[in-house]
Amino acid sequence: MARPSPTPAPPTPPSGSTSRFPGHGLAKGLAVTLKAMTRRSVTAQYPDVQPDLPPRSRGVIALFEENCTVCMLCARECPDWCIYIDSHKETTPAATPGGRERSRNVLDRFAIDFSLCMYCGICIEVCPFDALFWTPEFEYAETDILELTHERDKLRDWMWTVPAPPALDPGAEEPKEIAAARKAADKLIAAQQAEQSPPESSA
Ligand code: SF4
Ligand code: SF4
Repeated sequence: MARPSPTPAPPTPPSGSTSRFPGHGLAKGLAVTLKAMTRRSVTAQYPDVQPDLPPRSRGVIALFEENCTVCMLCARECPDWCIYIDSHKETTPAATPGGRERSRNVLDRFAIDFSLCMYCGICIEVCPFDALFWTPEFEYAETDILELTHERDKLRDWMWTVPAPPALDPGAEEPKEIAAARKAADKLIAAQQAEQSPPESSA
């Protein structure tokens, strides 16, 4: 008995060709062009127009040097070793008779070499005294790589660009730091007012 002949396979297009009809590729290309032409442009005209950055953008690191105790933790933990800190010790006399003198570290230099920094944020995370912050500031390019080492004054100036923290929930307890700062400010104002007020005449 003769075996039935197999069904012939449908013709395949020549290898490398995906066109289904003449001009298919052209129509597809024009469709892409049309789609791109009608889409909203995302090109930013920087520097004429400043970008609208999210408030918590990681631009550069700012230093709140009033909070820095020169504990050196940030410099030790920095994987790039690009934080340079110099300090000296100062001794303050005892506050009460018979008390002990106190010594404290005074910051002489705090600099970050942004040509080495990889913006990992470890220094900000490890600082136990909230002295380092991210700021969205990003316009600090220099033409000389050596000038990318920014010193404490510049880092302190960037503190003004750090966004305020989000508001507390209604009814939340006031943070201890704010309460302490308010107490210290009230004390200072009272001392200044006492200095400015004229002494009472003893008649
Ligand atoms: S962000 Fe990272 S690399 Fe940059 S200074 Fe801080 S710890 Fe060092
Ligand atoms: S970890 Fe904070 S407090 Fe300590 S040296 Fe660095 S910035 Fe100053």
